[in-house]
Amino acid sequence: MIIIMKPGAKPASIQNVIKTIQDHGLRAHLSEGDQVTIIGVVGDKARLAHSNIQLAPEVEKIVNVTESYKLANRKFHPDDTIIHLDHTQIGSGILTVMAGPCAIESEEQLLSTARAVKKAGATFLRGGAYKPRTSPYSFQGLEEEGLKYMKTAREETGLKVICEVTSARAIETAARYVDMLQIGARNMQNFELLKEAGKTGIPVLLKRGLAATIDEWLNAAEYIMSEGNENVVLCERGIRTFETSTRNTLDISAVPVLKERTHLPVIIDPSHAAGVRAYVAPLAKAAVAAGADGLMIEVHPCPACALSDGPQSLTFEDFDHLCQELRPYAALAGREF
Ligand code: PEP
Ligand code: MN
Repeated sequence: MIIIMKPGAKPASIQNVIKTIQDHGLRAHLSEGDQVTIIGVVGDKARLAHSNIQLAPEVEKIVNVTESYKLANRKFHPDDTIIHLDHTQIGSGILTVMAGPCAIESEEQLLSTARAVKKAGATFLRGGAYKPRTSPYSFQGLEEEGLKYMKTAREETGLKVICEVTSARAIETAARYVDMLQIGARNMQNFELLKEAGKTGIPVLLKRGLAATIDEWLNAAEYIMSEGNENVVLCERGIRTFETSTRNTLDISAVPVLKERTHLPVIIDPSHAAGVRAYVAPLAKAAVAAGADGLMIEVHPCPACALSDGPQSLTFEDFDHLCQELRPYAALAGREF
């Protein structure tokens, strides 16, 4: 449930409502917009049944939130969330482009990619150090050694860096090297991992599960947020359907649906959706046109030699070309890039 205060409600009235909520053993979530202040109630709202909170000074009205996710819900937080990482922002109206190899393979591979994607316009370097591969015999990632290369790339280029984490141990290690944690599609409903990521306070990119509904995905975001970390970005990366022409099916409609249901920024990963290099650019353009806040794209110095996801990786030249092609789409969608 949310409590909507009268426009211009006094701080004392707002504090009074928050105190009533807390006195009933519940959590209050404050969202102060330009016009109106909203106080969300987190927990079993039945506890407030006899509180007469609707009669408290300057309470305009009480609205029930039927969805099970609260902190991620736009009703709790009508304004768009902007994630701040020093001077870099996600969700602010500037298109965020995260790019880099599927897996970190060597220092030279990562640094050359970092330089190329920065030059083309990316603000984040991506790269996996813990790879959740379908086969246990496939390359599993360089782990901490790879994270050290990430840190070097960040220091040299000024790019923010993001890496997937697959265990609590990986979170602990990665937190020392990267700006943002990625929870991959295969772990979207690994609730213990989500809670651990929530405890760090580090921004988290949460990818959509291979066959997750949008509601399940938003509940997964809620797990991270309910631990006190509200810096969550959602990443649509294609879902499993009957179609086999592409690796997954990009659910472009997730963008407007999410924009309606949540205040969290939305990023599209056309690389894992397509699985085919030639389809990445058209899907990236569609994502920007549909209103995504950003993109995550796999780029490799030599896609044919890549240890993972070579067929969907762009060359440096392809990526540079795509960034140039994206500029008019970004402008039409009202995004700076
Ligand atoms: C990745 O980003 O390299 C990755 C494994 O993505 P996903 O979790 O979307 O499959
Ligand atoms: Mn990949």
